[in-house]
Amino acid sequence: MNLLISNGTVLPMTEKDKFFKAAVGISGNRITMVSSDEAEIESFRKSNPDLTEIDAQDKVVMPGLINTHTHVSMVLMRGYSDDVELMDWLSNHIWPLEAKLTNSDVELGAELGIAEMLLGGTTSFIDMYHYDHAVAKAADKTGIRATVSPFFLDSRMPLFMEDLEKALEFCKGKETLNVMIAPHAPYTCSDDAFKVGMTTADKYDLNFHIHLNETAGETPGYIETHGESPVRHLEKLGLFSRPTVAAHCVYLDPEEMDILAKHGVTAAHNPKSNMKLASGFAKTKEMLQHGMNVSLGTDGAASNNNLDMWEEMRSASLMQKALTLDPLAIPAYTALEMATVNGAKAMGMENELGIIKQGALADIILVDLKGLPHHYPEQPNILSSLVYSCRASDVDTTIVNGKIKVRNHILLNTDIDSLGQRCTERLTALTKK
Ligand SMILES: [Zn+2]
Repeated sequence: MNLLISNGTVLPMTEKDKFFKAAVGISGNRITMVSSDEAEIESFRKSNPDLTEIDAQDKVVMPGLINTHTHVSMVLMRGYSDDVELMDWLSNHIWPLEAKLTNSDVELGAELGIAEMLLGGTTSFIDMYHYDHAVAKAADKTGIRATVSPFFLDSRMPLFMEDLEKALEFCKGKETLNVMIAPHAPYTCSDDAFKVGMTTADKYDLNFHIHLNETAGETPGYIETHGESPVRHLEKLGLFSRPTVAAHCVYLDPEEMDILAKHGVTAAHNPKSNMKLASGFAKTKEMLQHGMNVSLGTDGAASNNNLDMWEEMRSASLMQKALTLDPLAIPAYTALEMATVNGAKAMGMENELGIIKQGALADIILVDLKGLPHHYPEQPNILSSLVYSCRASDVDTTIVNGKIKVRNHILLNTDIDSLGQRCTERLTALTKK
């Protein structure tokens, strides 16, 4: 299918603070034209007589948002356990419930989470969960772009291998699906487990996705047993020789930031989860100054409680201003970069995703700025409206890989009421005493 998005304000994310009126042409799954020239636009119409044209008057046309760290199926546990101390939350609430989840629960939760993400303009996500092949299945069904990361920890090696093989088999040859390997965290994986993970990553040529330095308590204990911090130890083990997405990175010293920057490690920053679980404030401004790539994630909905990347952008900016007492710490354009171009780098798809330019993949969203009270008075600077005022529900259209998934704020081919009802029934059954 070919598409023409006309009359919109295009925010290409290719040059700082730049946006302009233009039309975007899509042929198949690629962007083939970005133009303000009426003759060129007309010629695109003529050469594609069967195209679908979307009038984007009063809308921003921008790259789809990239959620680089989530456990999407945890939407099943949304609101299940809030306002609880972290270890109590994990040990007595989340882990016992997760132990009961089946493949089909993981797939069902993923369908609901993906519906929420697509409606809010998220077009790609990187997941980490039990039975992540079931998340890949849900992603394939809905058409969202996804990288799934079957995870291991010391007690889960055989299950991990089984999950990984299933994920690789399912994702093989599917252009919107990818696989990473996820060591759960330094404190749950021994060196031997890491070595198995690295050999497996070499065998299948896969990148890594890990939780790193999420809480203040992790590093002192790790230094006691390993003689050095997780970042320094993992570097010596050779983990970072492959592209790595490290979720959280709340506690890093400047030297560790240099190590991660040197190896091109992405910090997937999850500001809302870090605040809700009282984990702390990641120093994203400093990480960027040290040359690290910093992207954004929602983490699982049990610690958020939604998968809204607009709230993450706004929180990332506000948290850093408050932390550094510097109102310029993460300006609007930087927050947008974290949610788009930096996310594309995390996925290993730099120049393919997170931007609007000729040749890039057609993952595009249209955002309403008219008719909504929270966007008035009209701002000449749309960046400010997008980061500081926008809501997920302002997303009018979501296109993934050239295919329309959301139009006029409606997710196509999905009955949200019935999907939500099935999730409610399943949670009730799972939590029955
Ligand atoms: Zn996580």
